[in-house]
Amino acid sequence: MVGGNPFPTRTTCPSCRQEVTSVTKSVNGLLTWLACGGLCLIGCVFGCCLIPFCVDACKDIEHYCPNCNTYIGIYERIG
Ligand SMILES: [Zn+2]
Repeated sequence: MVGGNPFPTRTTCPSCRQEVTSVTKSVNGLLTWLACGGLCLIGCVFGCCLIPFCVDACKDIEHYCPNCNTYIGIYERIG
């Protein structure tokens, strides 16, 4: 099941019907915003609030087909 983990996953592309290993891409997700808000609340300066946007561990992972670049699914840290 693509979307269950943040790593490239063997799956069948819904678009080109090929068995592929998904390509992953990190995107800003809910946890990124929560971490940002949390840092703001504890009084960090503005620059620190942006740290979560640079940390992949806080990001959601989107899976794409390497053949046709179709969006296959997403792994969310929260959700
Ligand atoms: Zn495809």
